[in-house]
Amino acid sequence: MQLITGKTKLLGVIGHPVEHSLSPVMHNAALASLSLDYVYIPLPVKSEDLANAIAGLDAIHLVGFNVTIPHKQTILPMLSEVSPVAQMVGAANTIYRTEAGWGGTNTDVDGFIAPLKALQRNWQQVSPVIIGNGGAARGVVAGCAELGCREIHIIGRNREKLAQFQQSWQNTPLQATLNTHQWEELPALMPSTQLLVNTTPIGMSPNVEKSPVDPAAMEKLQPGAIAYDLIYRPSPTQFLEQAKSQGAIALDGLEMLIQQGAAALEMWLQQQVPVDVMRQSLLEQLGRD
Ligand code: NAP
Repeated sequence: MQLITGKTKLLGVIGHPVEHSLSPVMHNAALASLSLDYVYIPLPVKSEDLANAIAGLDAIHLVGFNVTIPHKQTILPMLSEVSPVAQMVGAANTIYRTEAGWGGTNTDVDGFIAPLKALQRNWQQVSPVIIGNGGAARGVVAGCAELGCREIHIIGRNREKLAQFQQSWQNTPLQATLNTHQWEELPALMPSTQLLVNTTPIGMSPNVEKSPVDPAAMEKLQPGAIAYDLIYRPSPTQFLEQAKSQGAIALDGLEMLIQQGAAALEMWLQQQVPVDVMRQSLLEQLGRD
């Protein structure tokens, strides 16, 4: 157990709820491995308390913090600086100190693309199909564009939300064409995609038998395509099981979680962090090999 001293510096995560957050586990494992006198703590903050909470965190000289549901979007107007990527995505997950107050950025985008970068693809030729149009899908869109994808398809169940999603990217520097589709159009898109991403919670524990893609549609996925589920509990999900049986490359959301955390910690500490230690701590926490 790490010794907390009078000089221990503070990091943390705000959200509501935060009880299920895995961030304290991986950040404290990295801090201990670096023998740094820091501690990373969960900070439950309700929506109505957000402004007071971030003023209080400033007052107690927290070094920086992560932001999770439901504050990723609502925190933006409370920041004195918002990075271009956080502005484009419309959400911040990593908050750091600036001379003028708190600054915010979004490391979910880097986290999402990290495992994809390890796969050699001509990304300009890949037209990803993204299932879901919520908060995480925004980081996925920005990540796909950063990889170089020129055309991105978004599948949603609510026409109005889909239209709002598409409109929200206008007047942003996004260098990709966004096409939105109703759920029924998914099977027609399957044969030509090399990257299929699930950003919905369908299939997440405890609903482990569910998948956002029905078996007949999944049969249309090409062998060698990448199926990426942002969910990491369970692993693999039903979606990834189906995709693997089609000969697809399956990625779950754990590496995204690790890499967004590593990018945040590097920003706060201004030094390289032990990503392998962070990964191992989460694998142990989740009871995975
Ligand atoms: P969100 O903002 O609530 O968005 C969820 C999206 O899924 C919405 O578009 C929603 O549609 C759709 N959806 C939900 N249930 C559905 C259903 N039964 N049928 C069809 N569509 C459905 O949530 P989020 O923050 O984007 O998170 C989504 C998932 O990503 C969660 O599983 C979360 O754990 C995961 N995630 C993982 C990481 C990571 O680091 N690995 C990071 C962020 C998020 P409507 O808009 O129509 O309701």
